[in-house]
Amino acid sequence: MTTPLAEQMRIVLYGLRNSGKSSLMNNLFEKKVSIISDTPGTTTDPVTRSIELGALGPVAVSDTAGFDDIGSLGNQRIKQTDSKLDIADLVLLVTRGDQSPTKEEKSFLENQKAQNKSLIVALTFADQELDQKKVNWLQNTTYVKIDNLNKTGLNDLKKQLILSGKKIPTEITPVEGLVRENDLVLLVTPIDLAAPKGRLILPQVETIRDLLDKDCACLVTKERELHYFYDNLKEKPKVVITDSQAFSKVSADLPENQLLTSFSILFARKKGDLSFYIEGVKQLSKVPAGAKILVLESCSHHRQADDIGTVKIPRLFKQLVQSQSEFTFSRSLPEPEILQNYHMVINCGGCMVTRNLMMNRINQLQEQGVYGLNYGLFLAWVNGLLPRALEPFPLEYQQYIE
Ligand code: SF4
Repeated sequence: MTTPLAEQMRIVLYGLRNSGKSSLMNNLFEKKVSIISDTPGTTTDPVTRSIELGALGPVAVSDTAGFDDIGSLGNQRIKQTDSKLDIADLVLLVTRGDQSPTKEEKSFLENQKAQNKSLIVALTFADQELDQKKVNWLQNTTYVKIDNLNKTGLNDLKKQLILSGKKIPTEITPVEGLVRENDLVLLVTPIDLAAPKGRLILPQVETIRDLLDKDCACLVTKERELHYFYDNLKEKPKVVITDSQAFSKVSADLPENQLLTSFSILFARKKGDLSFYIEGVKQLSKVPAGAKILVLESCSHHRQADDIGTVKIPRLFKQLVQSQSEFTFSRSLPEPEILQNYHMVINCGGCMVTRNLMMNRINQLQEQGVYGLNYGLFLAWVNGLLPRALEPFPLEYQQYIE
């Protein structure tokens, strides 16, 4: 249950107010995690908790406000609910079995199907007589009957969630396709002012775990000791993976035939679309004067004096790409009509969020014709280290040099 949320499958409960979402949430967790009441609109902010779901392992389940919420506060809640939907791997549409489908429910279901979203319907109030129109409406949709009062149907629902969840593609792991059993991999992790006290950051930890899962060995060193350890290795590593900020030094310390990449590039591939970002990098030489650039972070991490997203990247961009560029910083993607005014979006590594969220952003950028790249690729480009950092990925390497 300590698996980071970014690594857990996301299930989002969605439905009209008073459809039984919060009761269902409480019954699934067998404890009170959401407040329930007969007053419509009791759930205000989305509530997210993790639950172990058999073969799926820990999954994050979110209860949301009703999508028919009203008033100005209601509109804000609907926005929060929609942002949860954007990152949902699996939508659990909760609807009363004893009532006919509403116009909103019908259009929601059509919309989800058009987007090919994985969806299950929980037909609540199963102790009442089923409404025939609702049953007809769900003819081609997977549904499970739930009686929240008598707590029936819950096991069937869990089984169905596991079945549907198993069909959802999962993120690749950090070193997927890069290493084989018994390979040695060298990791370079600077311990500087930006490093958290007493621990490594998530991408480093996940990479180490992935290497162990793949029966590899890894040697972890800081950039200062790299030269000494590398030179003393009898067997050279299959690949060296470094923090982007130390890329220049690491690259200079290693022979040219040593495969080298960065944690950021591994995570650009894992969390997003490396090929889309490479296209963005190729556009850097054509950024016009006055271009609006959006730096998009994904969590409220503590900012350092020379913060990478808000200080370092804008400074380097103005020095090396376009001095007359205008920077904006945000933690969420703006509405399409605002987004289309940007020339380019520079994403953070997204280590704390799901691939689904990052892909959703990328899809919206593509729809609005906005170029995108991420911190790691930008820093590697700035330091003249692309294409070297892409060499371990032949297809993307080819795309870059063409
Ligand atoms: S890379 Fe993004 S998600 Fe990870 S800590 Fe930085 S801002 Fe947060």
